[in-house]
Amino acid sequence: MAATRAPVGPITAASMKVAQIPKPGGEFQIVDREMPDPGPGHVRMKVQACGVCGSDALTKEGSWPGIQYPRVPGHEVVGVIDKLGAGVSNWKNGQRVGVGWHGGQDNTCPSSRRGDFRNCRNLKIPGISYDGGYQQYMVAPVEALVEVPESLTDAEAAPLLCAGITTYNALRHSGAMPGDVVAVLGIGGLGHLGIQFANKFGYKVVAIGRGSESAALTNPVEALQKAGGRAGNLSDSSELESDSSELFSGLGPNGKLMVIGVTFDPIEVTPVQLISGSRTIQGWAAGTPADSEDTLRFAELTGVRPMVETYPLEKAAEAYARMMSGKAEFRVVLTM
Ligand SMILES: [Zn+2]
Repeated sequence: MAATRAPVGPITAASMKVAQIPKPGGEFQIVDREMPDPGPGHVRMKVQACGVCGSDALTKEGSWPGIQYPRVPGHEVVGVIDKLGAGVSNWKNGQRVGVGWHGGQDNTCPSSRRGDFRNCRNLKIPGISYDGGYQQYMVAPVEALVEVPESLTDAEAAPLLCAGITTYNALRHSGAMPGDVVAVLGIGGLGHLGIQFANKFGYKVVAIGRGSESAALTNPVEALQKAGGRAGNLSDSSELESDSSELFSGLGPNGKLMVIGVTFDPIEVTPVQLISGSRTIQGWAAGTPADSEDTLRFAELTGVRPMVETYPLEKAAEAYARMMSGKAEFRVVLTM
């Protein structure tokens, strides 16, 4: 009897859809790629949702140094682990996880050695250092993984992994105490979460919108001073830098401006503005996966939720344009 032989031919690996940027300033392309395998210390996750963030423009336009193209953006990712790389023992197949802005630290730089992973000199950022969440399957290092509570949907949890943690963490490190006045500048993807967190933290919240939309508040500086302006301002926006300089005067004594909107534009504040009232400015970048877990649990506990508009992965370009228009209410999320 002749032995049956397996058919000979190319071995076709499973493929997946990704939304990639081919070059700096290029348009989104939806392409098929071979499914990636997780290396040692990495997992592969089946992506369920990925938030669309203003910082994705760094990848789209190539304004962050050193990005290799084509690159898949996305750093607000929620999915389910479907394959473990070698040496991964503390995460399981089928476990629901997220990946945010903090995509892994090097464990060797001076900050990392002091446990200050947020300020790792070689911080990896999903969608910038490696392919992010605008795809059906994504590989991530274990030090980037966030456990996601069951009570949050994929589309709710995703924006909390950048917009959420950034506002939550900046506010809780701002020095503002319950009862203090906190102004949130810019009511977008970050701002609408900042307002909710600030409210649940027990601050008196003054929300200040952009440009003409803030016409109701004709003089925000005056409004702030009237409100007491004792503590922090949280500035979320590329468009508010000039406003933030002016609004800086609305800060009360010992007030602090927390800057969380990523841009390359200068903020102008005079020494007089800083010195009178001992005011300060501080930048704040997201946080570690453990901070993300704090954010998710706090949201679960208090009912803070992002308001989202969802788009399928195939419409990544449309979703991105919607986010960039500033008209989204309030966070755009891709669902796979
Ligand atoms: Zn972001």
